[in-house]
Amino acid sequence: MTILTPATPTADWLQALHSSNSAWLVTDEQLRVAHVNEGFTRLLGYSLQDMQDAWPLEKLLGQDTELAPHIRDELEQHGAYTGELLLRCKDGSPLWVAATVNTLNRQPFPKVGTTAEVIVLTDIGFTKRFEALQRQMLEDVVMEKPLANLLHDMCGTLEQMIPRLKVCVMDVDASGLLNPLAAPSIAPQVLELMKCVRSGPDHGASASAAYLGHEVMTPDIAEDAHWGAVATLFTSAGLQACWSNPIKNHEGRVVGTLDFYFDTPRSPNELHRQLVLACLHLCAVAMERDASKHRIRQLAYYDTLTRLPNRTMFNECAEQALHAMRGHQGLLFFLDLDRFKLWNDSLGHAAGDALLREIADRLGSCTRPEDVVGRLSSDEFAVLMPHCAPDQMPFLAQRMLDAIAEPFSINGVMTTPNACVGVCTYPEDGTDIETLLRHADQAMYAAKGQGSQRWERYRPEMGKISQERADMERELRTTLAAGGLQLHYQPQICSSGAQRLYGVEALARWQHPEWGWVPPPRFIAVAEDSGLIHTLTSWLIDAACTQLATWRAQGVPMPHVSINLSTNNFHLPDFAMQVQQTLLRHGLTGQDLMLEITESVMLDSSPATLNNLQTLHAMGMRLSMDDFGTGYSSLSYLHRLPISELKLDKSFVQDVTVSSAASALTRSVLNIATSLGMTVVAEGVETQEQADWLARHGCPVLQGYRFAKPMPATDIGPWVQQHAERHAAA
Ligand code: C2E
Ligand code: CA
Ligand code: CA
Repeated sequence: MTILTPATPTADWLQALHSSNSAWLVTDEQLRVAHVNEGFTRLLGYSLQDMQDAWPLEKLLGQDTELAPHIRDELEQHGAYTGELLLRCKDGSPLWVAATVNTLNRQPFPKVGTTAEVIVLTDIGFTKRFEALQRQMLEDVVMEKPLANLLHDMCGTLEQMIPRLKVCVMDVDASGLLNPLAAPSIAPQVLELMKCVRSGPDHGASASAAYLGHEVMTPDIAEDAHWGAVATLFTSAGLQACWSNPIKNHEGRVVGTLDFYFDTPRSPNELHRQLVLACLHLCAVAMERDASKHRIRQLAYYDTLTRLPNRTMFNECAEQALHAMRGHQGLLFFLDLDRFKLWNDSLGHAAGDALLREIADRLGSCTRPEDVVGRLSSDEFAVLMPHCAPDQMPFLAQRMLDAIAEPFSINGVMTTPNACVGVCTYPEDGTDIETLLRHADQAMYAAKGQGSQRWERYRPEMGKISQERADMERELRTTLAAGGLQLHYQPQICSSGAQRLYGVEALARWQHPEWGWVPPPRFIAVAEDSGLIHTLTSWLIDAACTQLATWRAQGVPMPHVSINLSTNNFHLPDFAMQVQQTLLRHGLTGQDLMLEITESVMLDSSPATLNNLQTLHAMGMRLSMDDFGTGYSSLSYLHRLPISELKLDKSFVQDVTVSSAASALTRSVLNIATSLGMTVVAEGVETQEQADWLARHGCPVLQGYRFAKPMPATDIGPWVQQHAERHAAA
């Protein structure tokens, strides 16, 4: 054997060469293999004799003929080559190596053109495969491969790299529950044991690692007290030792564990450590990507407040549920809270949010797991109940209404939430979710029309009603733009003495060319729902001011005009300023207008409303509480606002002479209002009997058909004249 070195190798030197894990091979100047070390035989399986027939690299590269000439060129030009090569072992298996080939310049025996070579090969099969695994995983993450599949593949690759190893990835959820995410080679009966394990120090290696946040080694499961009763099930499935490492997200929270199971009692070696170190990071990246994907989905498809599906998601789930129940019946409930906006504005958005969450919970409590519940918009919810027959509708709708109407307290304020529900049936009222939702919505609208806490079943004519509403909105819009509304005025009379004119109430009138006179409550409701109420009110104030200025110019003695305002008007931040400007334009002052508001304005504590009320009051305008006795009817609220007038609702007035309850209530309202310095105006006074009773009990102002119906402005002048004459004569 010739080892071409300047000095003769010592025994130590040779020993080192042989025991090296790298493969060494030396040729003579004819490029025949002259020497191989023991590492070479260990790595590739070839002996010195096996290598005699060809240039060694050509033989080792096998089919890869293109590469051999390339390496030769390199050697001839530069005298050296380094690179990574895929070689064939003697048994045919592939092996990745890092190769370094050096030509030896045989100084002692110079002979141009011939050189010997020293080839050093280092096994990088593992590194290569690991790089490939890493690349594959990152690619899978980018391609959004499902997390479980991605981790399943990773476990499989690791198991191929390290024979007799079983790898498993556990998911650890926010509540600390562990569940297998990927465990390709774990026996099913063991997999069952791994499900729903709570993280903790005494429930095996992975539960401990999740709990402690650092690696946990069980070198011998059979001997470990912490594994308890399950130990034998693991060991009989060939899982003798477990090494678990926590997978942490970027915030440091444990989101999973990477577990190595060995088939003999043992601890991890350096190779295992390296692998785990790199894989933990990859797992964390993949799991975190998946979590954020999930979060994005949640944001896109679920309502963050109630965690219910949003409209898009509801439609999708409901459509699937409909598809699954072909041939069966189902019910769709559409639910809308009453006065939610008022609650939200007056108690603040946090309270509104709390109420919505509560409602979502309550709906959850009266639905089954197979029902689809969603939040469609701010205070609208929908519930699809598959496999329910129409005869169950009354019970189910009422149960929902009852659940919602349970008292609810927030910030010390107790309320009873109310709602209205519309229901329609599948497949009679529609076979797709859009139609069903539209019909249930129409039924809900019909229920709202009946009052609070009502439910209605869809009827085809309801579609007509909602079409009529849409028509009315369109017509009202054009009429308003064309200045086509009118104002009628109803006189208000002082009950004592000469029955002096106290003022007039302006009431909007709409005569449609086809429909005739449209009842004010109907078109006012449409205006409020559609936002047209702002235009309507601006027009109303301007028209009333114009008229008052005209009367004054004509010498009609008109103390003031009352106008009706909606809650929505106060939400416009510059509403008070608009009123002020209109007054100025007509040369009027704040005293000339009385503003009739309803109790909902009083309950509305939104900043815009409060600002507007304060500004209006500061400008000298008086506020009148309309329809007193119908709404919240709480006298205790009255002192919260500078109210100077109270309008006793006609429902009281009409009963005042026949019902002792109505008369008792009216008497106490009169007492309290007087003591608070407010003027009471009784509305809807139709008979002389009512007028007498009211006058006798000290009600200062009366309004109603008994005196005059609302009339066009041109009739007011003559009416005032006649009225004055009648009473002067009396
Ligand atoms: P309201 O403010 O309570 O108006 C009084 C209603 O009672 C008027 O009905 C009036 O015509 C009616 N009325 C007056 N005297 C009697 C009577 O002796 N017996 C009976 N049964 N009814 C009487 P109208 O004009 O149909 O208005 C209905 C509602 O529409 C009003 O109720 C008010 O809430 C609303 N409204 C009318 N005009 C306007 C307006 O310009 N703006 C706003 N926001 N709402 C308006
Ligand atoms: Ca009124
Ligand atoms: Ca009224």
